Amino acid sequence: MSFKRMDGFMGSVPQGFIDRNVPRCPMCKSNNPHRAIDMKMQLKLEGNLYLFQCERCGCVLSAPVPDVTGDNNTILTTTGLLKKLGGKKNGVIYMKIQDSGTAQSDKSVEGKEYTLQELNQLAAED
Ligand SMILES: [Zn+2]
Repeated sequence: MSFKRMDGFMGSVPQGFIDRNVPRCPMCKSNNPHRAIDMKMQLKLEGNLYLFQCERCGCVLSAPVPDVTGDNNTILTTTGLLKKLGGKKNGVIYMKIQDSGTAQSDKSVEGKEYTLQELNQLAAED
C-alpha cells in the first residue's frame, strides 16, 4: 500500500470526507490525525475502498468509494441498491476498522464496521 496525503484536486473528495466526518482518530484520539489515503481495488460488490491511515497511530479505516463520493445515497444506483439489500440504511455511511493501530490494544475492533456516528462516539471516549 502506498498511503499519501491527498491535498490536491484529485484527493479533495476523500480527504475532505475523512477530515469532515471523522475529525478525531477513534483509536488514538488524536485531534489532528492528518490522515493519508490509499485506494484498494477489489472485485467485490461493495466496490473499491478508500483507506484512511492515521499519521499518529497507524490505524486504518476504510469506506467504499461510492459512500465517500455520495453515490450510495439512493437505491437508484447499483451499489446503493446492493447496500439496501444488505440490510444497511442508505445515506448512512459505514466504515470498517482495517487495522487498530499502535494506540489501541483491543484488536477485536479490527474487521468491524461502524457508522460515522459510532466512530465519533469512540473518538469521544476519553
Ligand atoms: Zn490514530
